[in-house]
Amino acid sequence: MSTNELREAYQRFFEERGHTRIPSAPLVPENDPTTLFVGSGMQPLVPYLLGQAHPQGAKLVNSQKSFRAEDIEEVGDNRHTTFFEMLGNWSLGDYFKEEQLPWIFEFLTSVVGLNPKRLYVTVFAGDEANGLPRDTVSAELWQQIFSDKGIDASIVDIGSIEQAGDAGMQNGRIFYYNAAKNWWSRAGLPENMPAGEPGGPDSEIFYDFGTPHDPKFGKQCHPNCDCGRFMEIGNSVFMEYVKQADGSFAPLPRKNVDFGGGLERLAAAVQDNADVFTIDAFAPIIRQLEEVSSASYTASPHQASFRIVADHVRGAVIMMADGVSPSNTERGYIVRRLLRRAIRHLDVLGIPAGSLPLLARSIVEYYRTAYPEVGQREGSIVEALAHEETKFRRTLSAGLREFQKIASRHISGADAFHLFASYGFPLEMTVDLAKDKGVAVDTEAFERAMAEHRAASRGGQDKKFRGGLADHSDMSIKYHTATHLLHQALQDILGKQAIQKGSNITPDRLRFDVAHTEKMTPEQLQKVTDIVNEKIAANLPVRQEEMTVEEAKAAGAAGLFSERYGERVRVYRIGDYSIEICGGPHVERTGALGRFSIQKEESAGAGVRRIRAVLQ
Ligand SMILES: [Zn+2]
Ligand SMILES: [Zn+2]
Repeated sequence: MSTNELREAYQRFFEERGHTRIPSAPLVPENDPTTLFVGSGMQPLVPYLLGQAHPQGAKLVNSQKSFRAEDIEEVGDNRHTTFFEMLGNWSLGDYFKEEQLPWIFEFLTSVVGLNPKRLYVTVFAGDEANGLPRDTVSAELWQQIFSDKGIDASIVDIGSIEQAGDAGMQNGRIFYYNAAKNWWSRAGLPENMPAGEPGGPDSEIFYDFGTPHDPKFGKQCHPNCDCGRFMEIGNSVFMEYVKQADGSFAPLPRKNVDFGGGLERLAAAVQDNADVFTIDAFAPIIRQLEEVSSASYTASPHQASFRIVADHVRGAVIMMADGVSPSNTERGYIVRRLLRRAIRHLDVLGIPAGSLPLLARSIVEYYRTAYPEVGQREGSIVEALAHEETKFRRTLSAGLREFQKIASRHISGADAFHLFASYGFPLEMTVDLAKDKGVAVDTEAFERAMAEHRAASRGGQDKKFRGGLADHSDMSIKYHTATHLLHQALQDILGKQAIQKGSNITPDRLRFDVAHTEKMTPEQLQKVTDIVNEKIAANLPVRQEEMTVEEAKAAGAAGLFSERYGERVRVYRIGDYSIEICGGPHVERTGALGRFSIQKEESAGAGVRRIRAVLQ
């Protein structure tokens, strides 16, 4: 089965079991300044897991584009990628363990064709200190599921990772691990959860590649061992408890299932080769690299460079298809780092300048069916890549000469920053180069220099790298509602073409990008401000309803990315003034917002104006 076929088969399997297929949310979360990119299938669905009704129903399935910037430096081994797709099925208060575990097993064995003898599972061992029982229900379900395949699956209490390395597998197939491994909540361990927070046990499925255990990772092997023998290919989270004010746990009235499985990893299991870079999704770009470098991927001493280029070009292409272009700020800087790192590794492979666009086209070719936006933006993606490559190559060789001079000694934060500021070397590139020379880099001092450099434009950079929920503080919610009023007011004053091009909300201010070619006049800004304050003073009610995309469009609803959310959408109305497709949340009445004022209006690129405003 190819990766494209797996993605399709998974979604069809769950559709046949009453699920509705929903599209992947864009990689860039809307109205969520705490997160740079969607990093898991669950992330866009958190509001629904927390109780909001999903317009598409209680049983959902999809494949979500995901990107983890924190993994950039890990890429190079046989399993880490920055971009990946996560297959997900959800029960929002519908089915539970009794359906989920047999279904996912049936999919993996009967549909995908994995040998059940190569599958091992883990379940939650319970947590006495927090009064949480062992998940015997899942363990017994698994025992029955394996027994139906003629496999006598014994249950082993393996405990913590450390204990597991000492104890080994003891011929087991179902393993109880502690909360550090088999408990899910947004806050992590049960003791770290605040009152009111939901959480629950999870159950992971591992594929056994059968490679020998490497004792560097512990005395004995076990499913969670990092030696590479086992690969996790799926995790069913059972959200079934809620933490109480006294620290105890009570059953959740509405229990959820959240399954997530890495598509690329599953494809690796299907071909029984642990190297994800050998799956068909990477085949075109690896083949292209082999051709232009006249080297073989499997035999090359620079296999890591093949992987880095393949991963980084793919990540950059898919990110650019979702509207992120290379720049020196936030998301754009991640794309830039990916491309610069890829260019350096193209050099390692001896591949001539100007190859980046060609490589990008092989990625576009593969993904255009699954994600039409990739094909639609091919032209601008390829152009931006070519531009980025030309620009970086202008300073690259001079930068490498400068590096050689510096690298005879320990590389200080100031040196690393100099390489960044004058030659465009991202930190990890300096670290990479230094590693080859056996020289250390003061990365902490670099980060300090970088933080100072960026302090003027923004703060909290690190916070943006963590995954998870949007900031739903009271202030952010107020700013969100104010954004809707501002959007409508801009349309009233500037005209219908003044649509939203972006939005970024923190508890301290809102930032709103609008399609408009000229600088706004002081009169226009004053009129917009007056309208918003008038609507606040009128204390208009904010109401939500669900409808089809067509109904929403007919009602004149505004909304970024609207069609991508699928057939039925949520719409927010503010009095009779504003109507917008939006996931919320919002205040109940506009009177709560306070006084609105615009602080700044400036250009944010060609044909886009950026407005910063505050509520007081
Ligand atoms: Zn091992
Ligand atoms: Zn909104």
